Amino acid sequence: MKQVYLDYSATTPVKKEVLDTMLPYYTDVFGNPSSLYSIAEESKAAIDTARKNVANLINANTNEIFFTAGGSESDNWALKGVADALKDKGNHIITTSIEHHAILHTAEYLEKHGCEVTYVGVGKDGRVNPQDIENAITDKTILISVMFVNNEVGSIQPIEEIAKIAKKYGVVFHTDAVQALGNVPIDVKAMDIDLLSMSAHKIYGPKGIGAMYIKKGTKITNFVHGGGQEAKHRAGTENLPGIVGFGKAAEIAKNNLEEHIENSTKLRDYLIEQITTKIPHTKVNGSMEHRHPGNANISFEFVEGEALLLMLNSKGIYVSTGSACSSKSLTPSHVLMALGIPVEVIHGTLRFTIGDFTTREDIDYVVDNLVEIVTKLRELSPISAEKGWK
Ligand SMILES: *Cc1c(COP(=O)(O)O)cnc(C)c1O
Repeated sequence: MKQVYLDYSATTPVKKEVLDTMLPYYTDVFGNPSSLYSIAEESKAAIDTARKNVANLINANTNEIFFTAGGSESDNWALKGVADALKDKGNHIITTSIEHHAILHTAEYLEKHGCEVTYVGVGKDGRVNPQDIENAITDKTILISVMFVNNEVGSIQPIEEIAKIAKKYGVVFHTDAVQALGNVPIDVKAMDIDLLSMSAHKIYGPKGIGAMYIKKGTKITNFVHGGGQEAKHRAGTENLPGIVGFGKAAEIAKNNLEEHIENSTKLRDYLIEQITTKIPHTKVNGSMEHRHPGNANISFEFVEGEALLLMLNSKGIYVSTGSACSSKSLTPSHVLMALGIPVEVIHGTLRFTIGDFTTREDIDYVVDNLVEIVTKLRELSPISAEKGWK
């Protein structure tokens, strides 16, 4: 059976070139980078190269990149590390209601430990209004954390404007750029970003490895205590193959950025056009203008998203309802709620995310099956029959 994976925002396969670059670092070049003999030198050099490639992708300096175990760890570090380092200055953090749970649950944890958190909402387009961020600032505000690109509806946030506001008030600015990396141009210098979270497995690199960009001079406490790795900020023997894989994935992402954006956008727009013209009562959620190139978040009225997902799954099509984290429970997605979408419509919403291995034939296969499945489900649904939707 044909298989079509349209869940690239959940994770991506490791590219062959990435895996090939990683493999020698499991077996041949395995020396502990902290050791003094020559094979350790080779490990150290490989980490330096990877750090340079990751830095290049976001226009950072090499010594401003610190490897972590992924996006969640970087997000935890940003919030806890700044709250701790600046506790004498203030205890107020501003974030948004559409963040990833790695931010939201860390913020909730900090609220239990003396911090005050303001969760700024978004418009119908899934974007934060920078003025709302500015209005939330008090003399106790120490950190503003706003994601670069939302993982569910793909909305790209006005990061430069928000960073400017943070600068104006002397507040540290962090952005969770896990979905932005390799999908939109990022320039931490031009955008004046202080802290930025990254993850390798969303850009065709391995899982369990990520990084944080920390602008030189930013006040943040060390995250893992132990050895002297990562300039003492994040101890532990380095995940050498992971770091090498992340570096290679970052290098490829940098070289392919324009082509990747162009191809993804074309296929995404084709998918959206096909679905919305061939299936009645469908609606795209989030901004079309400021959008992740591969994201199509679509509500199908009068159908259950779970039923849709399972029937697509039986055809070898893999998508997600709302977000991967909430897909096992039926609580409606906090992001779609924040956009003001009615709960019954949220329950009929799917997220399709396109990536580098997606083809036009894949999209046609998905659309053909969707037309059939949605029609069948609506025929079975008492609500749609009552309202005359077929
Ligand atoms: C995937 C994701 C994360 C978590 O990254 P991991 O490397 O899986 O821990 C954080 N934020 C966003 C926006 C994500 O999409």
